[in-house]
Amino acid sequence: MTPNAALIEPLLQAFRSTPRFLLSSHARPDGDAVGSVLGLADVLRQMGCHVDVVLADPVPLIYQSLPGADRILQSFTGPSDTPCILLECDSIERTGLPGLEGRMLINIDHHTSGCAFGALNWIDPSACAVGAMIYEIAQASGAEITPEIATCLYTAILSDTGAFTYGGTCAGTFALAHALTVSGAHPGQIARDIYFSSPESKVRLLGTALSRMRREGPIAWTWVTLEDMRNASAAIEDCEGIVNHLIGVTGVEAAVFLRQAPEVDRYRLSMRSKGPIDVAIVAEHFGGGGHRAASGCTLDGSLEDATERVVEQLRKALC
Ligand code: 5GP
Ligand code: MN
Repeated sequence: MTPNAALIEPLLQAFRSTPRFLLSSHARPDGDAVGSVLGLADVLRQMGCHVDVVLADPVPLIYQSLPGADRILQSFTGPSDTPCILLECDSIERTGLPGLEGRMLINIDHHTSGCAFGALNWIDPSACAVGAMIYEIAQASGAEITPEIATCLYTAILSDTGAFTYGGTCAGTFALAHALTVSGAHPGQIARDIYFSSPESKVRLLGTALSRMRREGPIAWTWVTLEDMRNASAAIEDCEGIVNHLIGVTGVEAAVFLRQAPEVDRYRLSMRSKGPIDVAIVAEHFGGGGHRAASGCTLDGSLEDATERVVEQLRKALC
């Protein structure tokens, strides 16, 4: 019995008694979103469920080699009352998918901004990744941890711990990585796929962003516009990770990356902290969410407005 057995049992009962699920995660999926939906989909299939994995946006290039990624759909055409499992979402809006209202919802999340919007909810902010929660579900269900499941869940954990560097990384994280490796995940290959497979456009865009980094004491920020992305032939997913270079600067305690959205007068923000500052609170102030050390939100208005508003909140958070 794991400490979470009482929370997992109602989920297993639902999984055993439901023939078909729509399984989704947030828009612009990251490694935890993609790895966790694919891992859980395989577990559910072992339990006899039919599963449609649907993500609003395409799977980023670096995760496309994950087993099952080619079967992920971008819209759901099944019955409108098909129950839905959401991973990593603090609301149905985070999925970016229409038509989820009114369905039986199961919500599995590890964000501090997570809230119990489902009929069944398991929210564990102490989990290093939703992938770690899926591993617990898999074990409790008696499913075989196949090399495919192990690869997907290892990817989820590797990416959501910042390659085992974030503050929450502990002995349990490595125990899980060990178990997944024993089950057939290949750490070297997975790391190559994620960290050594950047398209040239991504590196060029990173250069643009870093060359204009701004600094105000412990706060650092930078941005890219739609024009910058066009000039570098870059896709939106090429912006992932730019903010990590800013928080990597010594003396920086909070970092923000602003990306112009296709809507022109709208910016998507990615925030990071080294720990003392809670950037989830700053993101929540603007209607977003996330974790203490990694969060995001959307701001309407010009680049100057968005920058001033977020930097002002970070100054307050530093006091
Ligand atoms: P990233 O900066 O890598 O896109 O996101 C960092 C963290 O914040 C992730 O855990 C992500 O799920 C969360 N996050 C990013 N944007 C939003 C948002 O608009 N709303 C909420 N609720 N969470 C977000
Ligand atoms: Mn996550």
